[in-house]
Amino acid sequence: MAKVLRCRDLGMNCPKEMRAETEEKLLKLAAEHAEKDHGISAAMIPPSVLAMVKAAIKDE
Ligand SMILES: [Zn+2]
Repeated sequence: MAKVLRCRDLGMNCPKEMRAETEEKLLKLAAEHAEKDHGISAAMIPPSVLAMVKAAIKDE
């Protein structure tokens, strides 16, 4: 079973979907995507937003 995170579930106008086997890998992919495509450095993401990202992760 894969874990999936859709950028639009985070309120972004973005069609990107990320999939990984574990939440840890998925968060890494999400951080890379946020930095590359949204100009958001992972180091700038506050714990409250990280919690929101984790809550948006779905099992598939
Ligand atoms: Zn995005």
